[in-house]
This record gives sequence, structure tokens and C-alpha cells, in this order.
Amino acid sequence: MSSRQRKLSASTPAGDAASRLRAIYERLVGTYGPQQWWPAKTPLEVVVGAYLTQNTAWTAVEKSLRNLESQGLLSVVGLRAISEEELRVHIRPSGYMIRKAAAIKAFIAFLDREYEGSLEKLAEESPHIARERLLALPGVGPETADAILLYALGQPAMVVDEYLRRVVTRHELLPIASKYSEVQRLAEGAFEGDPAATRTQHYNEFHAVIVQVGKNHCGRVPKCETCPLLFDLPAALPRKGSAA
Ligand code: SF4
Repeated sequence: MSSRQRKLSASTPAGDAASRLRAIYERLVGTYGPQQWWPAKTPLEVVVGAYLTQNTAWTAVEKSLRNLESQGLLSVVGLRAISEEELRVHIRPSGYMIRKAAAIKAFIAFLDREYEGSLEKLAEESPHIARERLLALPGVGPETADAILLYALGQPAMVVDEYLRRVVTRHELLPIASKYSEVQRLAEGAFEGDPAATRTQHYNEFHAVIVQVGKNHCGRVPKCETCPLLFDLPAALPRKGSAA
């Protein structure tokens, strides 16, 4: 961590950082408009997509999802009936097929065992308990658990991904070595004053527009000069070619 980064927590009070992140969100919504995520037709497709997208581009995930859909397997019934070996073949385009097929089968077994095979029943669980249970499953880290909670179950879970981490650290809202939970807490703080009824919708849009700015501008090599978030970039930071 650079000495500049070490000074961040002292120089960027949490409230200021949350307000700046809220302004970042408003700018991105104004730029990109409503995203209406997640790009899936059913909650179960969200769940399967959340597993498949780990370490993989979404285009590859789409091929796997269409493979499953064309065989009538993109349902709890379909995924329950199929063997793990057969599932591997269908999700091959997404990579890591052995690990991902085992994880998806484990999720279906969990859903059958604990919630009568019903995503609706899982959605009725308290968000805290549902998150703990998801995190206990193989192949589920915080990002996958929160994506399932938010986009498949409609619960207020803030998703932290690599794009959000880049934005908050490059804008010096948090130090580079911040944990998932610290980035999540900061992002939740940006919506703290909002009515509970609208929070889930904001979390939904927030992750979606962060992905947009990440894909369009804030990749490994940032393209700050054309980015809608240039207004918030600390002046002292390099604006071209700076590493993550
Ligand atoms: S590309 Fe530059 S201005 Fe845009 S979000 Fe990344 S660091 Fe900020």
C-alpha cells in the first residue's frame, strides 16, 4: 500500500466517501439510464448465471445458459434430473466446468433439502440467514451470495465486484487492500438515508451501472479522459494508463 493510500482513511471521512459514491451513482444512472438487471429470464437463471460467471466473460455464460435452455434443463426440475457429468458438458463454454457443475448441483440439493426445491421459499428466509446458508455452500463466495440474494431473491444485498473495487480505490474512497465487507459497507452507506422500499432497487441499479462503467472505461487500464466519472477523480491521480 502506498503512503498516499495509507492516509486515505484519515483524509476521506466515511460520510464524505459515501456522499461521493452516491454522486457517482447518480452520474452513472444519468449517463446509462435504467439497466433493468440481471440479464436473465427467471430467478433460477440468475442463480445459475451467478455460478457460471465466476472468472468468466458473460458471453461464455450466455452460451452455457442457452445450452441448458435448449435442452429444457434451465429449471430446478431439469437441474435435479441431470447428472453432474452431463451438466459439465452443457456448461463447458463457461470454463471450470467440474467445479461449477458440482456447485450448481450442491445448490439444487440444498434447495430441495431446506426449502422444498422452491426459490420462493428461500426468498422468504431472513436475508442474514439466507446469506449465511449460501456462503456455506461450495463455490459460493460473498459476491455470488450477494448477487443471488439481490437479483434472484429480491433482497437488499449490495454486490461488490472487481469493477466497484477499482472505482472506489482509484477514486481514493478506500485503500487498495480493503476487504469485501469494507467496500460493501461504504457502498451501502451511499444509500443509507433512502427509504427501505427503494433500497433494493438502488442496489440493483448501482451494481449494473458500475459494471457498465467498468466495461466501458475502468478496465485494467483506465480510460479516464472519456469517462463520466472523471469529475470525481482526485486531481493528483494519473488519468491514463494507471494500474489497478
Ligand atoms: S476510468 Fe478513471 S475516471 Fe473512470 S471510473 Fe475508472 S478511474 Fe474513475
